[in-house]
Amino acid sequence: MRHGNDTPALLRSATTATGDKVDVTLADGIVQAVVPAGTAAIPTDSAAVLDLDGHLLLTSMAEPHAHLDKAGSWDRIHPPMGDLRAAIVSWRAYADTMTEADVVDRARAQVLRNVRHGTTAIRTHVDLLRGPDPLLGIRALVAVRDELSDIVDIEIITLSPDDIPTDTIEAALDAGADGVGAAAHLAPEPLEELERIVGIAERRGCVLDMHTDESLHEVVTLDALAGLTRGWTTNVSAGHCVRLGTVPAHQRDALIATAKESRIGIIANPITNLYLQGWGDDVATPRGIAPARALLDAGARFAAGADNVRDPFNPLGRSDALETAMLLVVGAHLTAHEAYAAVSSGARDVMGLPAADVTPGAHADLVAIRADHLTQAVAEAPADRIVLRRGRVVARTSSTTDFPSLTAPAPLEVAR
Ligand SMILES: [Zn+2]
Repeated sequence: MRHGNDTPALLRSATTATGDKVDVTLADGIVQAVVPAGTAAIPTDSAAVLDLDGHLLLTSMAEPHAHLDKAGSWDRIHPPMGDLRAAIVSWRAYADTMTEADVVDRARAQVLRNVRHGTTAIRTHVDLLRGPDPLLGIRALVAVRDELSDIVDIEIITLSPDDIPTDTIEAALDAGADGVGAAAHLAPEPLEELERIVGIAERRGCVLDMHTDESLHEVVTLDALAGLTRGWTTNVSAGHCVRLGTVPAHQRDALIATAKESRIGIIANPITNLYLQGWGDDVATPRGIAPARALLDAGARFAAGADNVRDPFNPLGRSDALETAMLLVVGAHLTAHEAYAAVSSGARDVMGLPAADVTPGAHADLVAIRADHLTQAVAEAPADRIVLRRGRVVARTSSTTDFPSLTAPAPLEVAR
């Protein structure tokens, strides 16, 4: 059901990330003007005004690394807990039996959870399957992408094991996938597999997003990816980069410089890698998070995503980018502002999306969160949010809490 003000012309009395109280005018999905609160002309149509008093107004979140085809399968599979290779075994056994309708149902529900929390763009990796119907997941995600195109941008990247033929990967692109990727570091010959996937992206001129070096102690392929894609104008990214955080500092810094030279966007995946990594390191267990501080200090393109949510690769997750931001603060020692940038503006940059912000001329992909400032928002992840995509409200959540046995009002506004 559409509300009268689902395309507001004025966002009134919002608080920006820097603490300013502002009125924001919007038109055609673009921020037109940002002026001190109380000074914007009020539209005659009151339905065109969205009052954001008490709300923080931020760049909407973007999820740069999801697996919508897997999301929500934990409760169907009941896999044992374990590391990456154990998760792959559990997932593949289930994938042999799943239907297209199952994938559509789980992916659709996951997208709506993301959007509800403020995410207006999602890049999802989708498995190309062994067996008679390798494109089942691709068809399902193309259907979900089309169905939900009014509320969210979904970008589909193929994820193929090394025994999936090149023809099948190209068929997935013909069927609607936007780009290609793989976990070359898991292949018996990582560099050969990397070269094959890079070659497909080059031939097709499409987005390339590699699962890269998702291990604490094994092979490094990031330098090879950077070498193969130097000078490319298409969008290239590397997810995970766990190993980048465990090599010696001088090697780490050299790898980051090489990746930066090739404009590779590095995508950290804290919740999933905290879960999947370190099962064999029972003393001083490494955190398994890409070296966010070193990447930011070097000026590399940097983003963070949840990766897996409630599937064999990660049993938990709230489908809320504020959870990823929180983990970057406690697990990678970023500030709340740096962490929020990684899941919003940084993610949009890595995904090749236009800038969105509370700035004239920027896209009005915004989220209003009921909070006073950004650190509070990241700490408490308030449920109350209003999500705008291209200037239109696409999700609205409000919550209330009662304390029926208290006779006096609660001393703090805890409902946030
Ligand atoms: Zn992944």
